Amino acid sequence: MRGSWQERFADSPDVLKSPSRLQTVVQVRDLEIGGAEFVTMAGPCSVETEFQLMATAHHVRRCGARILRGGAFKPRSSPYAFQGHGLEGLKMLARAREESGLAIVTEVMSECDVPMVAEYADILQIGTRNMENYSLLEAAARSGRPILLKRGMMATVADLLRSAQLILDNGNPNVILCERGIRTFETATRNTFDIGAIALLKYISHLPVIADPSHAAGHRELVPALARISVTAEADGLLVEVHPNPDKAWSDGDQSLDFADFDQMMGSLDPYLALRGLVLGATADARPMEAVG
Ligand code: PEP
Ligand code: MN
Repeated sequence: MRGSWQERFADSPDVLKSPSRLQTVVQVRDLEIGGAEFVTMAGPCSVETEFQLMATAHHVRRCGARILRGGAFKPRSSPYAFQGHGLEGLKMLARAREESGLAIVTEVMSECDVPMVAEYADILQIGTRNMENYSLLEAAARSGRPILLKRGMMATVADLLRSAQLILDNGNPNVILCERGIRTFETATRNTFDIGAIALLKYISHLPVIADPSHAAGHRELVPALARISVTAEADGLLVEVHPNPDKAWSDGDQSLDFADFDQMMGSLDPYLALRGLVLGATADARPMEAVG
């Protein structure tokens, strides 16, 4: 890496590539994030019902996803919107893991909830609104669980890397960076997908990078194209919102793919993955629905 990048990100030295550390591979159960496999995390924005979660888990698994996402604690823009099922949601996620074999990523919003969320989740998600909540970052880091660190919607790449550095400083090397779109003057899309940040993060940092085209786009029609662009920008995986009936979703329905659209999107990634010499690891071993559980 050229000296200028080192200088520019001088206060997050340990997240930058060095000759002895070119790529961190985060181990999650039997999975490696940042390794040879392109890892898709998919599922509903919010955990709503047992049926919604199980149906989604089975479907996304059959399409090649390796990790189930779903919010039990929801940071909503409106204080009057559904805030999540909390502990009950975490229990539903754990049951879905048991049934589907998928690992679980879910958001933790408060420092006090870290031990409880860490008991159920394989990966702790730090949401965009909490990227600079340093006491939460420290508590999450100390749980020992891998951390999916979402870029703050008003955060620069340097801000994101500083938060990642703080997690490393608290003894947790398993940080996964996530670009989910930033707030700009453009309002046609929900956020502006910063594809340049993905390319940059892959260039300067050894940490795995996941792209979230759903929260960037805000409109489901745009999600597949942004997912394909993410593959070509060398992201290590995707975070995608999927719902059995997006029009009835309790949160983020406009940007959620239905089952058929998710299936189609995953298939459309193949030629782009092939250009990178990658495949979707789960496609070959995905079990038919009857055999699951
Ligand atoms: C989410 O993943 O559902 C979420 C709330 O994401 P973000 O923090 O990026 O808005
Ligand atoms: Mn969401």
